[in-house]
Amino acid sequence: MERLQKVIAHAGVASRRKAEELIAEGKVKVNGKTVTELGLKVTDNDSVEVNGVPLEREEPVYYLLYKPRGVISAAKDDKDRKVVTDFLPHVKQRIYPVGRLDYDTTGLILLTNDGGFANLLMHPKYQMDKTYVAKVKGAPFRENLKKLERGIELEDGKTAPARVKVASVDKKKGTSIVEITIHEGRNRQVRRMFEAIGHPVMKLKRERYATLDLKGLNPGDSRELTPHEVKQLR
Ligand code: URA
Repeated sequence: MERLQKVIAHAGVASRRKAEELIAEGKVKVNGKTVTELGLKVTDNDSVEVNGVPLEREEPVYYLLYKPRGVISAAKDDKDRKVVTDFLPHVKQRIYPVGRLDYDTTGLILLTNDGGFANLLMHPKYQMDKTYVAKVKGAPFRENLKKLERGIELEDGKTAPARVKVASVDKKKGTSIVEITIHEGRNRQVRRMFEAIGHPVMKLKRERYATLDLKGLNPGDSRELTPHEVKQLR
């Protein structure tokens, strides 16, 4: 279910603002009836006409990308930096990332043109487990990791419980590899969590997203999700 003006804008017929005007002017029909109400929500099964021309609704598509470092999680960047959609030039639909990974974070990110699906995955109530592998400074004490497991106070509130596992410690280099699983998705959350216990993140990779992982992919590689994978995420 999506708002009518958004559906029109997504189909590339008009900007969101212009779509609102078209609706208000009575130029939009849903299932054959003129609609002037702005908030109306429509599904993929509703037929939409703008100025008497049926809207071509894009078929929904779902991709997984192994995001490399130094890439913006957006469909466009005003400063012309590399964005995640640059890695899927063969996809003709207007896809965009589900949530964000930091510019320097690598790993699994989903892209779709299905707004309902993206909203569902990003909704705090339905957020799925995401597993990150962090290279951090120093060797965190167990009690500090326990704080992350229980939830730690950040400036935007206490984090939900997390699962944390130390994979290895490099005493010579003074770094550790720590796996952390969280289901929230606040801005720079993992980096801020480790910062809060005094072990800043030097490198961060998202290795798993719910049931999905990066098996068989290298940075910059992408693949389409199977219908079964899409179903599992819903
Ligand atoms: N947490 C972070 O700190 N950065 C990311 O990119 C993702 C999660």
